[in-house]
Amino acid sequence: MLDRLSDRLNNVVRSVSGKSRITEQNIADAVEEIKVALLEADVNLKVVRRFVSRTVREASGESVLRSVSPGQQFVKVVYDKLVEFLGDERQDLALRGPDVPSVILFAGLQGSGKTTSAAKLALRLKKEGRRPLLVAADLVRPAAVDQLQQLGERIGIPVEAIPGSKDPKAVVKAGLARAKKEQLNVVIIDTAGRMQVDEALMEEIRQVSALAKPDERILVADAMTGQNAVEVARAFHESVDLTGVILSKFDSDTRGGAALSIKTIAGTPIKFIGTGEGVEDLEPFYPERIASRILG
Ligand code: GDP
Repeated sequence: MLDRLSDRLNNVVRSVSGKSRITEQNIADAVEEIKVALLEADVNLKVVRRFVSRTVREASGESVLRSVSPGQQFVKVVYDKLVEFLGDERQDLALRGPDVPSVILFAGLQGSGKTTSAAKLALRLKKEGRRPLLVAADLVRPAAVDQLQQLGERIGIPVEAIPGSKDPKAVVKAGLARAKKEQLNVVIIDTAGRMQVDEALMEEIRQVSALAKPDERILVADAMTGQNAVEVARAFHESVDLTGVILSKFDSDTRGGAALSIKTIAGTPIKFIGTGEGVEDLEPFYPERIASRILG
């Protein structure tokens, strides 16, 4: 992911970084190439426009043009803008102290990787010393409960499920009660997905959220769906006030525009990326590292 964008931006960077003098025209040309590269990478048009105008504004200033190494200063401006659009600082989960159970609500469309990501995050938190409980409240996709139970078994994490139940709120209530009783301190709730955003889905997630009062409301968005992932994030954010996104399938050969667009368009940060199908394949999202990778 992001390889092609990285190649394109590297060419631009190489064309200016060694120059001992650069003109406003050089900057305008370079920015035009960056614009094309971002659009080709499927970055949201609004984000591209903002990126371009800010880069031009900052790179055309005296401090860049008259500096000792203007080419490198220009590259620094581009890097800083990439970091900014990727979400600035790394955003970690905001969880409670170990004695009070934290609640993490998972949301997302069917097939986005929601159930897998819930298990991945549970394993990660377990390794950090927490005691997670997975709650199987996706009662729409027929295999979801089984899938979560199997994943839980594989990673040694308990799963709360009520076989045959059609009531997600009852499952969530049972999960919260069990966490209290068994002193499990992170409750991770897998909720129902749908093929697309619809009102029934939003109503269900709002109700579950009102009941569970989650500390984190995480959307799993499929990077392979590009700008659709960005729109889905915006819709969910409006509905349940997301605290973050897991961008799944970051290992796929997609153009990567979603990563650069979600924070600005949906207003919520990417907290983790999914990097494979395995239960270990979840990594914290570091804007600076991704920006460095893009600029090579
Ligand atoms: P759900 O319907 O949202 O619960 O989706 P699942 O968790 O069942 O995932 C759908 C498919 O995506 C499964 O085949 C997962 O193995 C796969 N998947 C999930 N996350 C990732 C990821 O980060 N990378 C890759 N390559 N596949 C993933």
